[in-house]
Amino acid sequence: MNLNKLLRKNIAELKPYSSARDEYAGEAMVFLDANENPFNEPYNRYPDPLQRELKQKISKIKNITPENIFLGNGSDEPIDLLIRAFCEPGTDNIITFNPTYGMYEVAAGINNVEVKKVSLTEDFEINVDAILETVNPDTKLIFLCSPNNPTGNSLDAEKIQKVIDWFDGIVVLDEAYIDFAPGKSFLPKLNENANLVILQTFSKAWGMAGIRLGMAFASVEIVNILNKIKYPYNLNILTQTKALELVEKTEEVKKWGKLLIAERAKMADLLKGFPFVIQVYPSDANFLLIKMHDAKGIYHYLVERGIIVRNRSNVHLCDDSLRITIGSSSENETLLTAFKELI
Ligand SMILES: *Cc1c(COP(=O)(O)O)cnc(C)c1O
Repeated sequence: MNLNKLLRKNIAELKPYSSARDEYAGEAMVFLDANENPFNEPYNRYPDPLQRELKQKISKIKNITPENIFLGNGSDEPIDLLIRAFCEPGTDNIITFNPTYGMYEVAAGINNVEVKKVSLTEDFEINVDAILETVNPDTKLIFLCSPNNPTGNSLDAEKIQKVIDWFDGIVVLDEAYIDFAPGKSFLPKLNENANLVILQTFSKAWGMAGIRLGMAFASVEIVNILNKIKYPYNLNILTQTKALELVEKTEEVKKWGKLLIAERAKMADLLKGFPFVIQVYPSDANFLLIKMHDAKGIYHYLVERGIIVRNRSNVHLCDDSLRITIGSSSENETLLTAFKELI
């Protein structure tokens, strides 16, 4: 893969905005360089544009150097930036599979970039041959999601590796749910795969969806490209400060993970017992995809009782299926009670 050839010409030639904080990042007694207000500390100061302190912490947790980390306003930001960096609007395309997370298609659509969708197999696995047959000279990115949303399964690691090896562009592997699938991350293989970008997030296992913090792990060259085109201060002070505090809670996060994985097994078991449930699909994520008789009717029944799940019945390969997030045991209990009363 030739990164410079892959990159859009205008991005390669772009001179990025240089902020006051880029030009002088050290400690000083008096900062009179950024037209900040001297009052209202600490919110008066612009945040660190490269989030150095937070990346140091994440680097230790993920066992990867800070230079391989990009942080964004949710995973949404690196998804959008990757498309903008590599895909020429109206010309280039990306490949996603179907069904998968909806944001890749939306981000491509906003940027006027074509999306080629390749169907998963009936058992929700990727079809490597079909993906590679779909690649053309204008294909710049392939998005893979594992564990996949909304199907819940992890993709076969050998198949993922094949796509990475054979594709002459960038493979974006979205691991938003990886903490619920222990031992399956591609992160340890990042250095051997120059064309791989791994997305993870603080929104799921870390319980921080509200502060909007997503991670992309990639080669230094790719991270530098993302840094060059992001908003200069993409992560505000509140997010950075709160994240620095919350990343210390690793033990608690592990405990939550174990609890949710145990609840997932319990829920899968109990849900199989209801007569209207046709199939509970295996899940490596914090949700279950469930095929049932009259999913739409059951969805509305639950809404009336104040219980909101995701109706995925109109999604390819997911006819009559609901996606149900694993909640606290009492939330899960409420759902089970509603189901019992439906019989
Ligand atoms: C929830 C989810 C994310 C997280 O997105 P954020 O913008 O980081 O909150 C990313 N990818 C997938 C597949 C998801 O389901």
